Amino acid sequence: MEIKEMTGAMEKMNVGQRDGGAGVKEGEKRGGTGCLCKESCSELKMHSWSKVCVACGCSSVDHAPGSDADDDQRMGRLLTDSPCSHLTAKVKGAGGLRLYKRNRMTVTNPVVSRKDPSFNTTYYDWTPFGLTQKLAMQYMDSLPENRRPISGTEGVLFRRRQLLGQLPVYDQDPMKCQSLTSEDEISSMLLFVKGYKQEVLGVGEVALPTEEGALVEAANQRRAKETKDQGSTNSKAEHPAGSTNGTQNPDIMTEYFCTGCHGEITSDSLVVHAERAGYHDSRWHPGCFLCSECGQGLVDLVYFWTNQKLLCGRHYCQSVWPRCSGCDELIFCQSFHLGTDGRTWHHDHYCCWRCGQSLDTPCICSQ
Ligand SMILES: [Zn+2]
Ligand SMILES: [Zn+2]
Ligand SMILES: [Zn+2]
Ligand SMILES: [Zn+2]
Ligand SMILES: [Zn+2]
Ligand SMILES: [Zn+2]
Repeated sequence: MEIKEMTGAMEKMNVGQRDGGAGVKEGEKRGGTGCLCKESCSELKMHSWSKVCVACGCSSVDHAPGSDADDDQRMGRLLTDSPCSHLTAKVKGAGGLRLYKRNRMTVTNPVVSRKDPSFNTTYYDWTPFGLTQKLAMQYMDSLPENRRPISGTEGVLFRRRQLLGQLPVYDQDPMKCQSLTSEDEISSMLLFVKGYKQEVLGVGEVALPTEEGALVEAANQRRAKETKDQGSTNSKAEHPAGSTNGTQNPDIMTEYFCTGCHGEITSDSLVVHAERAGYHDSRWHPGCFLCSECGQGLVDLVYFWTNQKLLCGRHYCQSVWPRCSGCDELIFCQSFHLGTDGRTWHHDHYCCWRCGQSLDTPCICSQ
């Protein structure tokens, strides 16, 4: 089956670790570290089905397990077969597996001092695609200081936690789910994932308001190239033709307003565009490009566009399928437990993860 092949390829990739520069080493040092909670938990010990650490009781996301390389593999898989696959690159000999081409940036500024002239170098673990260094820095300045993904700072850890929280791997890959129990559930999930990649998922693009035309042009070129590539390799060619709204509108606008806050956008400030929402119809202040459910900034600008709303992956997925409050995975089976507060559980996860007692009667663990 298809999934088995993919896992085989993943394993191969893990064996041959790539050289990813300083950023990756940083990430691997942090990989699988402890939690920042009061328990001073030193190592993530995963519970068998809930996504918590049995040592400290916090979520595995709080431990930010894995490494930068893992993140790029996961993101690469997420963007594969979506209109954003140009942000990924093929991994040699890995059976069509693609890796996220994360846009890192090194910024060197001279330090003006009277004695020795020196340079101040800052490594960004991520910056938006397609920006000059100057504009990328303008974008970073729009973020709160502790959220800028500068290597070796809190901002990098914040980004990783957001990645794990907003884009859980078990919303994307049946092989990472522990709670799928039948072929039917696996097929439902595969179909769901394929559908959102083609229709809903996107990555925001940052530009000056006056550069909208260039974004439209670039998107058209990408689409033309994809169609051509797919024609020559004779693979599945199912692309929503003309899915971009408003590309034909030649009006030069002089006033720009944010789709999020409806506030004005000055022509020299950066905006985020979402292709799915139409380059001409929508634009956001960088600080307004948020999940409309949880209000978090969308990590690496990865958005899900549905019913004229921006959502993070987690909140899009659980708007379609119920999510188990026990194991945090989506529920693809017909029968599940529905609480009076609207929360949902797999039947066998409607219990305390420590002692297994049904949640109908409070256990001593929760005290
Ligand atoms: Zn822990
Ligand atoms: Zn903890
Ligand atoms: Zn705004
Ligand atoms: Zn959200
Ligand atoms: Zn569950
Ligand atoms: Zn208990």
